[in-house]
Amino acid sequence: MCHIKIVIRFHRISSSCKSLLSSLQQVFHRLSLRLLHEHPFFSRRVGPLPIFFIIAIVVTVGLAAGIPLALLLKTHPAIDIDIKALSHTDVAERDWKYIVIHHSATPEGSAVVFDDFHRNKRGWRNGLGYHFVIGNGTQSGDGEIEVGNRWIKQLSGAHAGDRYFNRNGIGICLVGDFDKDEAEGPTERQLESLEMIIHHLSDRYDIPISRVIMHKDVVENHTACPGKNFPEAELRHHLRDFLVSNDASRAQS
Ligand SMILES: [Zn+2]
Repeated sequence: MCHIKIVIRFHRISSSCKSLLSSLQQVFHRLSLRLLHEHPFFSRRVGPLPIFFIIAIVVTVGLAAGIPLALLLKTHPAIDIDIKALSHTDVAERDWKYIVIHHSATPEGSAVVFDDFHRNKRGWRNGLGYHFVIGNGTQSGDGEIEVGNRWIKQLSGAHAGDRYFNRNGIGICLVGDFDKDEAEGPTERQLESLEMIIHHLSDRYDIPISRVIMHKDVVENHTACPGKNFPEAELRHHLRDFLVSNDASRAQS
């Protein structure tokens, strides 16, 4: 019985597909005849084929090759980072209350480069002022998360321009200048890594979304960091999804 139904349904689907295809075929046939007869450009020939057919072939091949390629470029594989192992520290952890997001305001960089600058140019004994640096593919990997000395030793940061936030806030810096006039923001991989690390840290130290802040929120009119092109709304939207589900799973357990 069921088998018959499936066969009938399949037959209906295939016959409706056939009729759709044949009407499309007729439309295409009529259109090509008109174009070939009425427009001299389309009836022109390159070798044995009229230009119209060459255009049709190029468009078809282009779409067939272009769509999978575009999908492939868009859905790059997720970054394989063991965030728990990466952020593990052997010393007693501090009771972190905030996460403060920065950009480096430089087109290039890495933890090593900023560490050198902070240690030798600024004269900071503990070097790199941030706890984490997320690379943009210039001097470290695109989306690579580097862990600073201040995180490993659980020291106050030197990033917020404010003693309380340096002591209580985890400083995360994304390499790049997101305050330029050309709308240049973080890379997709940088944002993926940022979300990943925020998920982990907010879970571990019970930091709510309201305490995930931008550097510019610390002291009013002090800085534009992480820049006008940083997609704060998009980040908050993604975090809300996560933190809501996180709260729900906590309530269940
Ligand atoms: Zn900053």
